[in-house]
Amino acid sequence: MKIKEIGINTICTHVGEIDDEQFKGAISPLYMSTSYAYEDVEIKRYPRYFNTPNQEALGKKIAALEKCEAGLIFGSGMAAVSHSMLAFLHKGDHVVLPNTLYGGTYNFVVEEFDKFGIEYSFAEGFTEADFTSVIKKNTKVLYVETPSNPLMLITDLEMVARIAKERGIITMIDNTFASPVNQNPADYGMDIIIHSATKYMGGHSDICAGAVAASEKHIMQIWNLAKNIGGSLSDYTVWLLERSIKTMALRVKAQNKNAMKLAKWLDKHALVERVYYPGLKSHPDHKIAKKQMRGYSGMLSFELQPSLDAEVFMKSLKLIKQSMSLAGVESTILSPAKTSHALLSLEERKRQGIAEGLLRFSVGIEEKEDLIADFEQAFEAIETREYSAEGF
Ligand SMILES: *Cc1c(COP(=O)(O)O)cnc(C)c1O
Repeated sequence: MKIKEIGINTICTHVGEIDDEQFKGAISPLYMSTSYAYEDVEIKRYPRYFNTPNQEALGKKIAALEKCEAGLIFGSGMAAVSHSMLAFLHKGDHVVLPNTLYGGTYNFVVEEFDKFGIEYSFAEGFTEADFTSVIKKNTKVLYVETPSNPLMLITDLEMVARIAKERGIITMIDNTFASPVNQNPADYGMDIIIHSATKYMGGHSDICAGAVAASEKHIMQIWNLAKNIGGSLSDYTVWLLERSIKTMALRVKAQNKNAMKLAKWLDKHALVERVYYPGLKSHPDHKIAKKQMRGYSGMLSFELQPSLDAEVFMKSLKLIKQSMSLAGVESTILSPAKTSHALLSLEERKRQGIAEGLLRFSVGIEEKEDLIADFEQAFEAIETREYSAEGF
């Protein structure tokens, strides 16, 4: 069967699996060997060459999930981001990025690029004019992230691929928030597709890994750099990640569904100022999201009424835990103003639309009724507190 003809759950479960020829076991055997014979073999295998049996097998699954020719697995999402950029950007080259960017990626650019002599510009927004106005003669890479963190803003991938192709520029996307279940950027002509596999691919908050999918030619260019830098992932984690991905589509579809329900419920709540979820018709980018996403992901953000104390609200939650990371089967919540965007000034946060009472919610697979009940009791807790503060 051709990979294009099989469904997402079948790709998740089977593509890339290693046949256990010796014992006929149901799952891929784990090969922990760091040392392989070099004579009379097709490939000289070594973990830092990203070509052990398990690394190779998982690479095929990643490629199939993103409808690309090839895939590579890394030791973290940031290793996938940094290798991809450095493989295509040389001294004197220029890269265009959006101004709302995953914090680690932003730090990588502003703290490291000067020493490599790589120039960069941040686009003011996500429209065609925002990008084309900062593209220069030496621009080699156009990098995007959609949905964005934490406001879930959407970039039109078809537009990005078109303006880049017209100018001979390579396009890269961090597809972590959508996951391959909800969005395949290759369908819209994007070149390099990057994931923090720590998030939806791993899905259980117990694996740190990264992944890249692209054409055979582009993956070779990244691999040429990767084998010298050495950010490969241990085979044991590769094997665990293969297992995790088997249920990725089941998990993510359940998370999409829960997120949509919760977004609608929060949107109607009197103590909520606004909800940012691309699945809501009220989201400014809903139309583009509908065009390029199959599901709207398990990530949403919402803003409490300005008079309410977001800290107290979060501390009152019992089932939903505060957490820096996201995309696990368990629901987690975070205050961008206190964590990812804490180093920005109040004015800069305001400019980016990050209110002090904004909360980013990573929706898990729990029963939606239980999540709603947890929110309800936290809303009750802050309401009582506000009233008592005012002398009621
Ligand atoms: C977490 C994350 C990364 C970085 O991944 P690590 O596995 O933590 O290195 C990159 N991009 C996005 C959107 C992320 O959420």
